[in-house]
Amino acid sequence: MAKLELRELGNTGLKLSCVGFGASPLGNVFGTVSEEEANASVREAFRLGINFFDTSPYYGGTLSEKVLGKALKALGVPRDNYIVSTKCGRYAEGFDFSADRVTKSIDESLARLQLDYVDILQCHDIEFGSLDQVVNETIPALQKLKEAGKIRLIGITGLPLGVFTYVLDRVPPGAVDVILSYCHHSINDSTLEDLIPYLKSKGVGVISASPLAMGLLTESGPPHWHPASPELKSACQAAAAYCKEKGKNISKLAMQYSLSNKDVSSVLVGMNSVRQVEENVAAAVELATAGKDEETLLEVEAILKPVKNQTWPSGIQQS
Ligand code: NAD
Repeated sequence: MAKLELRELGNTGLKLSCVGFGASPLGNVFGTVSEEEANASVREAFRLGINFFDTSPYYGGTLSEKVLGKALKALGVPRDNYIVSTKCGRYAEGFDFSADRVTKSIDESLARLQLDYVDILQCHDIEFGSLDQVVNETIPALQKLKEAGKIRLIGITGLPLGVFTYVLDRVPPGAVDVILSYCHHSINDSTLEDLIPYLKSKGVGVISASPLAMGLLTESGPPHWHPASPELKSACQAAAAYCKEKGKNISKLAMQYSLSNKDVSSVLVGMNSVRQVEENVAAAVELATAGKDEETLLEVEAILKPVKNQTWPSGIQQS
């Protein structure tokens, strides 16, 4: 099988596999996953060329970090063979972007992950905090963690795209290495594309998560907590059913759509089984060798047109 493509992450010098392993499902966020299945999924991902693993203390109330840490350790490979990102500021108990909390948080994450450092530490869903605190307090605190060698790179994540420009316009150049956007670069919502020239001008690496729109673009549909409107859910369901009837798979189409934009360094997809790992890697390899199914893509885009770029509210209103 052809190798999974590696892509440069902005100016960081890191090369991420174009398919990244989203570990929120390992925190049982999308249903229960056994430890055996979690270990086997991580092992298969690494074997097939995935070198990037993303988690957070928030996923499953710290469970995802623990399960991922154990699975990575069980690989028995040198630490620099894989890239780990985790987050700070969002916890099962709520949000706290204070310097104190994020400084303690990294030590807790490292212990759960059984690591000496993480490659990327990201402020998690900053639209729920004060963006000025993120600029003036959280990022400077993360800078100190960088100097201490506990993290290599600093990132920010969030749903509304405006939070990225707000922060990047106010921090010193180079203070933020990477942004993680989610649900804005998939077949139903492509609004991240418009922000990419700006992000490039800032020299920031771009990670795009949730190519399957957190389960909307799957045959089995989204989890009960999914925040999309009933209209968006039913349009995606209709698109999935259309693909199935045609003998196609909506998730494969969605992966290939997201992977087509090479300005995105890694497409982070949540995976909880060996089968999903194999399907998503195969989708990337097939895209690189045979291209995507343009005909079905156009048909699905037509089904989703009435809900194109429809999103949902997230976070607190910033004054
Ligand atoms: P996703 O769009 O990747 O969808 C995940 C769902 O799709 C899960 O139910 C998974 O089991 C299923 N799935 C995966 N591959 C499949 C396949 N081939 N066929 C059918 N179903 C398949 O959404 P996500 O998991 O929320 O996002 C991916 C990752 O990105 C997360 O795990 C997390 O690491 C990261 N993320 C971060 C943020 C943030 O920082 N704010 C937000 C969202 C996601």
